[in-house]
Amino acid sequence: MASRPTKTKPGAAWLGVVKHPSTGIRIPEVFLPGILAAYRKRNTAGELSLSFGRETAPEEVIRARPGAWEITRGHTGTSIREYMTVGAREAEKAGVTVEIEADHLIIIGSQAAALQRLAGHHVESHISPEELEKSLDYYRMCIDEAAEVGVMGCLTIDASDLYWMEADRLSSARVRRLFAERYEPAQARTLLGRYGETLSFPAPGGKQVRVTLSELQAMRLALKFRDSLTVSARICQYCKRKLGRKPFSVEIALDETAELTAPRETLFYLTEWKAMGLLCHYLGPNVGFAKRVDYTGELAALERRVRQQHAIAQGVCGALLSIHSGDGSSPYSGKGEGVYEAILAGTGGDVKFKISDVYYELLVDMLCALPAGSEGRRLYESIFDGVLKLLRDELMRGGALVTPLLVRQLEEYDRQIERDPGRERDSRAQFFRFNAYLALNMRDKAGKRYFRDALVNYVKEDRAFRAKFDDEAEALMLRLIDGLNLANNT
Ligand SMILES: [Zn+2]
Repeated sequence: MASRPTKTKPGAAWLGVVKHPSTGIRIPEVFLPGILAAYRKRNTAGELSLSFGRETAPEEVIRARPGAWEITRGHTGTSIREYMTVGAREAEKAGVTVEIEADHLIIIGSQAAALQRLAGHHVESHISPEELEKSLDYYRMCIDEAAEVGVMGCLTIDASDLYWMEADRLSSARVRRLFAERYEPAQARTLLGRYGETLSFPAPGGKQVRVTLSELQAMRLALKFRDSLTVSARICQYCKRKLGRKPFSVEIALDETAELTAPRETLFYLTEWKAMGLLCHYLGPNVGFAKRVDYTGELAALERRVRQQHAIAQGVCGALLSIHSGDGSSPYSGKGEGVYEAILAGTGGDVKFKISDVYYELLVDMLCALPAGSEGRRLYESIFDGVLKLLRDELMRGGALVTPLLVRQLEEYDRQIERDPGRERDSRAQFFRFNAYLALNMRDKAGKRYFRDALVNYVKEDRAFRAKFDDEAEALMLRLIDGLNLANNT
């Protein structure tokens, strides 16, 4: 069973398996004061994170000349060293215990694919051996930097791009044949010996979750998840070697898929993970959330899915569920009405919940709301125009950021302002909400991140805005903490 550290003190710590909120800190100096104030007010030990696959990157990538890397890599302009160092230092100053998370190490063939997935566009591809080694080399460089800083408490591995989706569509005969080809007889017997019977896992509210995996289903999943499991284990072991005696939690993300994560898949993945002698402290399945929009599906179905996933994660590994894509349609909507309640009911309150985009969205919305002609509003307008221009250029040249969703969103924006010119530069325009993050990584010839720098300076210098923003940032985290009952968690 996973363990839990003893009494935590201010600053960065390893939290072990404990319910908590997790938030991205894309511009640490802007977002931290409000977030830490909320953690302190509710006596909550929370997580500070950035995703290694997209949001942050090693210092040398952040400092490289413009164009050396894709605009989407490390798109916050905040290095691993910076967010980890500043996060730990500011938490200590504020008297708050935090865990610093290396979020979403996405093993994927290209950055463009990682970004398209973020927009819900899943292309079935299979990474080549060369691409895989390149991806692993990159993450070794990331982990090295995190290990040097020395405050990392959680590693989230996302190897969902390595699923062999084709396995779902193979005939039974083909599954049996391929399984026999790829697994030695002894290995096959051991693996299949773990399944076949109906397993029952206790769930909150005195309920039971039952899952059965037939021999054929186990073979199919073995084919589907083999690469993902092996590569995740390699990353995990590398991290262990680099971090030495420093404990850290392992989170397995299965969420960034087109389909919901089936209970059987979770059972298989975690059972095999454990069979490799590895620990899993948190599990992030796809429970039906899309990024940056509220959940509007059936709440009873959500609760059922959460209950199944929670019971299996607990039963197999003693892990808590980690709910990904927690950002809703606006900074004020949570994840939609009734969603927190459904999660509480399904998990009995033992849950980790992740947000990130929403803090940047709040900042941009608040700048947009400033009076016309003011410095803050002018900064907002230049960001809006910069993002729009970049996207229109991408569209024109068929660039890597183009997805069917983006095309629809831009058309929708054009129709909107044609009908009502007053909606020009609306911060709620969907194309902008989904792509405003790009502004932070736009650079001039000298490499300066002009919008990011301007945002930091503006917030620093306009004291009235700073105070108002901190209040809103704190209130946003308080809504999450209170909504999911995450106060006094250690
Ligand atoms: Zn995720």
